[in-house]
Amino acid sequence: MLMIPGPTSVPEEALLTSAKHPIGHRSSEFSEIMMEVTQNLKWLHQTENDVLMVTGSGTAAMEAAMINFLSSGDRILVGCNGKFGNRWAEVGKIFGLNVETITAPWGKPLDTEIFSQKLQADIDRQIQAVIITHNETSTGVINDLGSINYSVKAHGKALIIVDAVTSLGVVNIPVDAWGLDVVVSASQKGYMVPPGLGFVSVSSKAWKAYEIANLPKYYLDLNKYRQFANQNTTPFTPPINLIMALQASLRMMRKEGLSSIFARHQRLMGAIRAGLKALNLTLFAEDKWASPSVTAFAPSAPSKLSVEEIRTLMSGHFNIILAGGQDHLKSQILRIGHLGFICDRDIITCIAALEVVLSELGWDKFSPGDAISNVSTKLKEKDY
Ligand SMILES: *Cc1c(COP(=O)(O)O)cnc(C)c1O
Repeated sequence: MLMIPGPTSVPEEALLTSAKHPIGHRSSEFSEIMMEVTQNLKWLHQTENDVLMVTGSGTAAMEAAMINFLSSGDRILVGCNGKFGNRWAEVGKIFGLNVETITAPWGKPLDTEIFSQKLQADIDRQIQAVIITHNETSTGVINDLGSINYSVKAHGKALIIVDAVTSLGVVNIPVDAWGLDVVVSASQKGYMVPPGLGFVSVSSKAWKAYEIANLPKYYLDLNKYRQFANQNTTPFTPPINLIMALQASLRMMRKEGLSSIFARHQRLMGAIRAGLKALNLTLFAEDKWASPSVTAFAPSAPSKLSVEEIRTLMSGHFNIILAGGQDHLKSQILRIGHLGFICDRDIITCIAALEVVLSELGWDKFSPGDAISNVSTKLKEKDY
């Protein structure tokens, strides 16, 4: 039972759909799948923009989102309040961009005011792009994309590039209504598909920037993907069976509907947080900026409970896999992924198992049964 923030569990429908002999990517059979998948990707992104698929994990899509629209020396602002924000800054530096990071402590959201000030101060319009990790998976913090985007729109020139890897298909991201230029996501997170596909949505403003962007690119040249997508195929051999799985998962998502998907994630987040609080564990992110896809927590001080021991027992006794912390938070926090193919039963199971494991490790600063009682109360709250 995978309770990590990616790869996430894959529904049997998607697995079985992909359990077939590969078909040729120049066949009419494949074109039909591409046509449907492309339409449904646009539905998921709430956009008429191109939504292109590249073979690779999310980082390949991140790299594509940068090198197709920017030139060496371009000034960009990158929000950094965790591992993935930092990765964007690293990619930008490797390609010789003039990267200015706007940082916040891990566990806190980006300060929208700083973006607003920097953008307003840029009177000769040198800032070419603002890059935001919408949901910081390393800490379980969701950034205020709407407010930051508002300042970018007021600036007028800069592109807004969004890492939506753990927010797309989790919270509302109306790409067209907000004018989001480039939006990046990956198959193994909210999509309920195994790893291996990256997605990039591209606005017409971003395509204009593409015309003058001078960074070298070949495999990740998105214009090639656009041209071939117009023929319902791909420039290079795609992971055909993954695209079959995607066809099935997107059908499931359409059936559930966007607003129900978003409400389900909010409800499950509320339940898991209520359960963890009742176990007297410390939540790493405050409720105000809590992520609806991943929750990070730590044993409360002065407890000497080991994060690694908790993970080992969760996996050993129950085969429930939790994630640890990343970089300096390794061995400091645990992370529970609750995005994609996830339901009430998963949350109840995970919290009940955690209670058993904590008791076994001698943690007794909670009343037995309270956690499940809190979870069940939260799960009954239908409206958010
Ligand atoms: C998972 C993730 C990525 C991509 O990581 P890959 O391992 O390359 O798929 C990017 N950004 C965020 C916020 C993520 O959670």
